[in-house]
Amino acid sequence: MFKEELKKIIKGDVEDSKSALEKYSHDYSIFEVPPEVIVFPKDSEDVKALVKFVNKKREQGYFYVSLTPRGEGTCMSGGSLNTSIIMDMSRFMSGTLEVKKVKEFSQKPDIGGRSYAVSGEARVLPGTFYRNFEKETLKQGLLMPCYPASKNLCTVGGMVANNGAGEKTLKYGQNKDFVKSLKVVLDDGEEYEISEMTKEQLEAKSLEENSLGRICRKIWNLVKRNEEELKNAKPKTSKNSSGYLVWDVWNESENTFDLTKLFVGAQGTTGIITEITYRLVSVEEQSKLLVIFLKDLEQIPELTTELLKFDLETLEVYDDNTIKFAIKFFRSFLKDKGLGGVFRYMKNFLPEFMMVLTGGMPKLIVLAEFVSNDKFEIQNEAEQAKREISHMKLKTRIIKTDEERNKYFDIRRDSFKLLSDHSKGTKTAPFIDDIAINPKNLPQYLPELTKLLSEYDMLYTIAGHLGNGNLHIIPLMDFKDPKTENIILELSPKVYSLVKKYEGSMTAEHNDGIIRTPFLPLMFGEKIVQVFAEVKEAFDPKNIFNPGKKVGGTIDDISKYIQKPSS
Ligand SMILES: Cc1cc2nc3c(=O)[nH]c(=O)nc-3n(C[C@H](O)[C@H](O)[C@H](O)COP(=O)(O)OP(=O)(O)OC[C@H]3O[C@@H](n4cnc5c(N)ncnc54)[C@H](O)[C@@H]3O)c2cc1C
Repeated sequence: MFKEELKKIIKGDVEDSKSALEKYSHDYSIFEVPPEVIVFPKDSEDVKALVKFVNKKREQGYFYVSLTPRGEGTCMSGGSLNTSIIMDMSRFMSGTLEVKKVKEFSQKPDIGGRSYAVSGEARVLPGTFYRNFEKETLKQGLLMPCYPASKNLCTVGGMVANNGAGEKTLKYGQNKDFVKSLKVVLDDGEEYEISEMTKEQLEAKSLEENSLGRICRKIWNLVKRNEEELKNAKPKTSKNSSGYLVWDVWNESENTFDLTKLFVGAQGTTGIITEITYRLVSVEEQSKLLVIFLKDLEQIPELTTELLKFDLETLEVYDDNTIKFAIKFFRSFLKDKGLGGVFRYMKNFLPEFMMVLTGGMPKLIVLAEFVSNDKFEIQNEAEQAKREISHMKLKTRIIKTDEERNKYFDIRRDSFKLLSDHSKGTKTAPFIDDIAINPKNLPQYLPELTKLLSEYDMLYTIAGHLGNGNLHIIPLMDFKDPKTENIILELSPKVYSLVKKYEGSMTAEHNDGIIRTPFLPLMFGEKIVQVFAEVKEAFDPKNIFNPGKKVGGTIDDISKYIQKPSS
């Protein structure tokens, strides 16, 4: 509807072709939400113009007009979908602006994890694909370690906005721990730079008569008024993307106030990120992988408890269905691995081919990795870990070559994509896909969860970040069957009640989106949900940024936007 007007106000592209609308109606979630138009801003001036355009339209009475940023659309919760203007950041707003080494300092993720050294910084535009950004940081031996399993697909803007995390999160935490500062366009259509502030800096900012000044005043007031409730509301897990990270804004012990925490994980509902400054760590040269084969899920809790006594960088898991998919669709699995690797890969996969043929497949494969610059130290640690779990009588292997190590990690990283690309007749249905439970509660939680799931006739795969108690359960469902929607709506609150019982998080990294926003009261209670509403109101009083996510989303939205039998 506004295509011609939009073309006049930005330098970038504007599209509303049938194929564009079709593409931007989907991400990796179970939803389909047709937008009205897609814009591709060239730079932050274009983003500012777009925010001002939406404000103007609202003043003219077009109350439905809104702006939803998008990276590559790999979100599994429907975060990048909306009905009005979708703003694709990846076409033009991409590029790594600077990578530099900094004087080393020690940092620690705020829950769990051990201290590590921060050695570098990088400035990067939000639409940059992580894979391209990583190439630039690695040139200096540096890495942003909280990359997701979708690292070859997604953009850094999407990673920040979902508070992404991945295989190294056990040691390094999530995106929120690595964002140093952000440039953002706020609701007044102006760009601001935000980072941690002292109390004095906050007081000075709060006096400014602009959107940032208003937000500083309101958020400070909000966190002080709800100090005790927020401390209690913070999920007791080492990962969380649910709600707004409002409990992390005010750091009492350091006397600092940090508004970046309300952009990280906010799914573009508080404003548009136009530049990211990340902290980086040095790449450690040596790694040793211990692979453990399990016969059933019940062995997980004890194994996790034993392994977490070690200084692991990574503790990941995937199940037999995942391996079967990798073997069955071996050609597409190899697609982005480079032709030179094909024969080596085939040779490496012989044991898995044999397992499939002979039926000797383990139920679960656990990857425990030690990383350091000292190869003798990690060899010793891997051997010690192997001895420590020997009483469990599990098959284990310490991996000798990088090629074999990469094979295991490639299966883990590609697990969801393989499944969603090849689930004929059925579709991947991420709706209870990202729960995190403190590993100490796994022995009680897991049996209750599997009992609940067994009440439904559903094929599902399990893969995930075991060290964080973060298991991705992905059912394959038939969206042509009307029962599918009912199962999703019935099972979600049951599973989330269990999550609440064990003080977990509904979503560690995939975020709330359309699928979980309606369940926020179940997890946090009405009082904290009201705090979330006040956060949204402070940043976006007119509700122009990605409406319906984090605040205001309903069960009806799930029903309305769930993929329909005809799609
Ligand atoms: C195969 C597969 C594996 C995955 N594995 C993981 C995993 O291990 N860990 C993990 O964390 N996630 C994982 N994900 C989920 C997803 O890939 C990540 O959340 C990813 O970081 C999203 O990036 P994107 O560029 O696709 O963002 P999008 O999907 O386009 O957007 C995600 C959210 O960010 C918002 N957003 C995007 N750009 C901006 C911006 N500039 N300003 C403000 N908001 C913005 C969007 O509005 C949306 O709400 C996986 C997904 C797939 C398909």
